[in-house]
Amino acid sequence: MKNHIVWLRNDLRIHANPALSAACSRPDARVTALFIATPGQWRAHDMSPRQADFLYRNLIELRRALADRGIPLHYHQCDDYDAAAAWLADFCRQRQADALFYNYQYEYNERLRDRAVEQALDGHVICQGFDDGVLLPPGSVTTGDGDMYKVFTPFRAAFIRRLRTEDPHCLPAPARRDATPLDPIGELEPFDYPRRETEGYPAGEEAALSRLRDFCHERLQGYSLGRNQPALDATSRLSAYLTLGILSPVQCYNRLRTACPIVLDQADSGAFSWLNELIWRDFYRHIMVFYPDVCRHRPFVAWTRHVAWRRDESLLTAWQQGRTGFPIVDAAMRQLNETGWMHNRLRMICASFLVKDLLIDWREGERYFMRRLIDGDLSANNGGWQWAASTGTDAAPYFRIFNPATQGRRFDEQGRFIRRWLPELASVPDKFLHEPYIWPLAEQTGLDYPRPIVDHGQARQTALAAYQAAKAQS
Ligand code: FAD
Repeated sequence: MKNHIVWLRNDLRIHANPALSAACSRPDARVTALFIATPGQWRAHDMSPRQADFLYRNLIELRRALADRGIPLHYHQCDDYDAAAAWLADFCRQRQADALFYNYQYEYNERLRDRAVEQALDGHVICQGFDDGVLLPPGSVTTGDGDMYKVFTPFRAAFIRRLRTEDPHCLPAPARRDATPLDPIGELEPFDYPRRETEGYPAGEEAALSRLRDFCHERLQGYSLGRNQPALDATSRLSAYLTLGILSPVQCYNRLRTACPIVLDQADSGAFSWLNELIWRDFYRHIMVFYPDVCRHRPFVAWTRHVAWRRDESLLTAWQQGRTGFPIVDAAMRQLNETGWMHNRLRMICASFLVKDLLIDWREGERYFMRRLIDGDLSANNGGWQWAASTGTDAAPYFRIFNPATQGRRFDEQGRFIRRWLPELASVPDKFLHEPYIWPLAEQTGLDYPRPIVDHGQARQTALAAYQAAKAQS
C-alpha cells in the first residue's frame, strides 16, 4: 500500500484542492493530511491575532471535514520554517511516506522552506507541488519576451485571453476512503499564536461557499456602483477566506461564470468589475514571484528608496489610533482596529494619508495593517501599500495625493460611515462633518475630537518636495 502525505498550508479546504486530489488519486493509498504551525516564523511580520483565531477555527473545521472523508489531519507545531522542514523530513521517513503533496506558496521564505524539504527528501520521497491560490499560475501570463507585465491593464488583457483558453475548473472533494485508520480527533495543541475572536466570520468551507453564493446572487450586479461606498455592504468580504485558502479564486471564478456566463465580454458589468479585483490579486502574486524583493519589503521603484521619511512616533500613534482629526481616516482606522477589516477605498485613503500627509515610511503602515487585518496577505498588502506610496509597480504617481476631506465627501457623502465609527461627531452638521474643526460651534459645544494633526496643503507640498528630492538623487 502506498503512503501519501498531503501538507496543507494556505489551502485549508477539501474542495478544489489540487494537492489533496492528487494525494487521493489512488484509491488504495493511505492518505494523511498534515498541518504545521510555525508561530516563531511570524514574529517578524506579526500575524494578527484575529487571523490567528480564524486560522485556528478553520483548522478545527478542516479536521472534521477530512475525518468525514476518512483522512486524518495530523497537527504539529514547530518554531519556524527551518525547524518545520527538518521535522517534516523526519515525519515522512518515520511514516515511510512514498509521496508528499502540497500546493505552492509563492512567498520567498515559503519557497526556500519548500526547497529545503525537497532537498532533505530527495531520493526517498517524491515531492509534488501544485499551483493554487491563484486564478492562473505565476509565469503563465507574460509579455512576448516572457517577462512579467509591470502595468496592470496589459496584464489583465493577456490574463483574460488566457482565461478564455484555460477556463480553470474546480476539482471535486475527494471521495470517502475507509482504508486509513484515523488518528484520534484531539486538540490542536499547542497553538502559540495570540488569538482574538472576530464576529461575522464563521469558519469552514461551507460558510465561505455560502457567502460567495449570496454575494453573487444579491450584490454582484450592484458591485461596480457600490464598491467604493464604505457605508454600504457592497463587497463580498471574502478576503479572509481567500487569504487562508478556505476558498480559492478558481471557485470564485466558477461561481461568477454561473452567475454571469458572459463575464469576460461584459467589461461594464458588476461581475467584470469583481473579476477585475480577483485579477489584481493575481497580479500582485505574479509580481511577487518575478520580483521576490517585494517579500523583503523593498520598494519596486528604485529611486523611491531615497525618500527621507519622517520618524515621528506621536504622528504614527495618532494614525494608528484613529485620532488624526481627519474623520474619514479616523473612522477607517477604528473600523480596522475594532473589526480586523477595512474597506478597500479606505485602505487607499489611510495609506495615502500616512505616507503622503505624514511622510511616514509605508513599511510602518504595511506592518501595522498585517498586525490588525483578519485578511492580512503579504502580496495584496504590499501591493496596496506600494501603490499608495508610489513606490510600487503600476502605482499611483507620486504627485497624486488624496485630500482626505474631498475623499470623505466623495465616498461618504452623507457621512453615514463616519457617524457609525465616530459617535463623538454626532452633533456636527453634515456640512462640516468632513472638516469638523471649521464648524463655528465646535468649541461652544465642547466637541471632543482632535484638531487636524497636519495642515493638508502644507503636508502636500512637503511630500512633493521629498519625492522630488529623492528622484533627483537617483
Ligand atoms: P471584494 O471587493 O469583494 O474583492 C474580491 C476579492 O478580490 C477580495 O476578497 C480580495 O481577495 C481581492 N481583491 C480586491 N481588491 C484587491 C486589491 N486592490 N488588491 C488585491 N486583491 C484584491 N487585500 C487582502 O486580501 N489582504 C491584505 O492584506 C490587503 N491589504 C491591502 C492594503 C492596502 C493599503 C490596500 C489599498 C489594499 C489592500 N488589500 C488587501 C486589497 C483590498 O483592500 C481587499 O482585498 C478588500 O478590501 C477585501 O474586501 P472584500 O473581500 O470585500 O473585497
